[in-house]
Amino acid sequence: MVTTVVTAKKLIDGKKDSPFENMAVVIDGSRIVQIVPQSQLQLPEGIEVRTFDFPNSHILPGLIDAHTHLMFGTVDGKGYDEGPYEKVIERDSDEIMLLRAAHNTHMHLSSGVTTLRDNGARNKITFDLREGARQGLVTAPRLLLSGRPVTMTGGHFFWCNGEADGTEGARDAVRLLVKEGADHIKIMASGGGTAITDNRKASYGVEEMRAIVEEAHVHGKLTTAHCLATKSISNALDAGVDMIEHAGFIEPDGSYVFDPRVAERIANQGVYVSPTIQTGYRGLERLLSKQGIAPLSVQEELRLDSLKAKCESQLEFVGKLWKDWEVKIIAGTDAIQMFGDYSLGLELHSDAGMSNMDVIKSATGEAAQGLGMIDQIGTLEVGKEADLIVVENDPLKDVKAMREIQLVIRAGREILPYKTNER
Ligand SMILES: [Zn+2]
Repeated sequence: MVTTVVTAKKLIDGKKDSPFENMAVVIDGSRIVQIVPQSQLQLPEGIEVRTFDFPNSHILPGLIDAHTHLMFGTVDGKGYDEGPYEKVIERDSDEIMLLRAAHNTHMHLSSGVTTLRDNGARNKITFDLREGARQGLVTAPRLLLSGRPVTMTGGHFFWCNGEADGTEGARDAVRLLVKEGADHIKIMASGGGTAITDNRKASYGVEEMRAIVEEAHVHGKLTTAHCLATKSISNALDAGVDMIEHAGFIEPDGSYVFDPRVAERIANQGVYVSPTIQTGYRGLERLLSKQGIAPLSVQEELRLDSLKAKCESQLEFVGKLWKDWEVKIIAGTDAIQMFGDYSLGLELHSDAGMSNMDVIKSATGEAAQGLGMIDQIGTLEVGKEADLIVVENDPLKDVKAMREIQLVIRAGREILPYKTNER
């Protein structure tokens, strides 16, 4: 067995508020066995040692993405600006989606994401992906999977085939998902950006959602709810969900209005929020840059206005949740257009006003807490899985440092970066 040693100028452990200087992380197999000052490093004689020395860089825990949809996405991130999820759903077989998911996992892993939670795929696509990874066919991050999201008939993502109605139907859906290998249960508590759904309205009532949550908890599974409408957030809180995705605060008239009473309840119940601010952000950038060159179509103007309202309100709301209510914010990309673009979400957390150290925690220790994985991952500690990354510049000075990843180690294995032109 080769022992791996990683050394760098600074180490941010995902837990403490300040970094450590000149540390060495020693990895044996898939585990961290020592974290010591480089001056105190002692290794047994006669063992084979592989060293990664980055004298000017920073070691961090491997990053966690709490929200992806691996079956979607394009190589360049384009083609999703008008919400054509249904087109992709109609066009692509499960097999094509599985191939795309395999591609996406490697893209994400190269950007430093060593654990990702998938929040909704059709049929058994993500379960098959994990089996492929287990067999060594795919190099993937650690995968935490919801499989099909549980949604009402005709609800958001109904084409994943996880429709369930009534308390009995909801319980049946959870049991089937657990049987097939779901790690957590994703609930669609409001409409979203998909055809025939309405993001201003709650989907499930409290009773149905409570049945889902209770059944999931019976099986030891965490729950997370897609909530754009404010009403869906309060329903999810009544039902006892563990995490809220997006937290859109959309009123019945379509306006974005932060509701401090709801925020207080999120805080008091200790519910995590994965705001996924970056959803639609690249589309917004593309429209803004196009606007500078040529006039936009009426449809593009409408799209631009709605993306602006969404992104601006989310930046404001996340800042309030973090600062005024000390809500636990978790990093999730909602990667659905583009994979390997993880740093953007952290930059937006920073733009929302979070401190850079809390931004890093939202992607590491805090995220692992929210995913129920803190005993294994999320912080750099002896005995934990050896998931770590190295970045050259100081992310405590500027989180854009997370764009340039120098090394990714996942469970003790070095991950080679993904290159688009690789043959
Ligand atoms: Zn999503």
